[in-house]
Amino acid sequence: MCRMIDGKKISEEIKKELRERVSEMKEQGQERCLAVIQVGDDPASAVYVRNKKKACEYIGIRSLSYELPGETTEEELLDTIKELNNRKDVNGILVQLPLPGHIDEDRVLLAIDPEKDVDGFHPVNVGNLSIGRPGYVSCTPAGVIQLLKRSGVEIEGKECVVLGRSNIVGKPMAMLLTRENGTVTVCHSRTRNLQEITRRADILVVAIGKPKFVTRDFVKDGAVVIDVGIHRNEEGKLCGDVDFDSVAPVASAITPVPGGVGPMTIAMLMANCVEGIS
Ligand code: NAP
Repeated sequence: MCRMIDGKKISEEIKKELRERVSEMKEQGQERCLAVIQVGDDPASAVYVRNKKKACEYIGIRSLSYELPGETTEEELLDTIKELNNRKDVNGILVQLPLPGHIDEDRVLLAIDPEKDVDGFHPVNVGNLSIGRPGYVSCTPAGVIQLLKRSGVEIEGKECVVLGRSNIVGKPMAMLLTRENGTVTVCHSRTRNLQEITRRADILVVAIGKPKFVTRDFVKDGAVVIDVGIHRNEEGKLCGDVDFDSVAPVASAITPVPGGVGPMTIAMLMANCVEGIS
């Protein structure tokens, strides 16, 4: 029987724990504050930003909102980041991506103080993760690790296959699974004999950005399948990179879309804001 890994429930648990932690911190006179910067009025970004603010409110993190017009120049944005880097009362800075085309995303992410980089995208934090030093970890892959641990899935010694090698999901995912003592293989668009490799996986994490790409032919009987993908079809229905109906009958556990990895990303962002570098 395939078990459903309930990301909604696990993310609620984490947020509840963080809310208690923040309340204890407040009693000791400590406050957490996240600055969220959005440039332009991309509707999807506006929803993400709103959800982040809502989560801050629930947990007790003060949030500062910078809604900058679409024509904001790169220099103006960098000045805002500089100001926030210098503010002692701000411990997290998040720039909502994507940025308008005239702004160099890399330059902006590099400008954030690595000690306030709660998204974990700064090369200093990526480097720290790769050499096993404390730092901020990218929220989505960190959320996948929490999903596995809190569902009682052991990672140590397991064959783990990560499908996708993006900087924000695939690569940090592979590093985190390695840190948890999994034996990790990373696949990408140039991988040959893809199904042969994915069928070796005890734990298969899929982040390739292609709706319902992974069918039962990619999955070993009894594997744990984590679907990071998120897509909306023509009828407005959400689906993942995994063909859920095809894979669920062979998997031992699987994350649904929606309600799997998605809610974990914000929960881990909140954890980064509360716990600081860990
Ligand atoms: P991305 O930057 O587009 O990377 C996709 C990766 O998949 C690349 O490494 C690419 O290989 C690989 N790939 C593409 N087609 C492939 C194929 N046919 N066979 C094997 N590998 C293939 O995507 P991403 O940012 O990692 O996101 C992946 C998915 O997760 C998307 O659906 C995204 O919306 C979703 N996502 C969800 C959350 C969340 O909170 N739930 C967060 C982030 C992303 P190459 O490197 O060779 O091009």
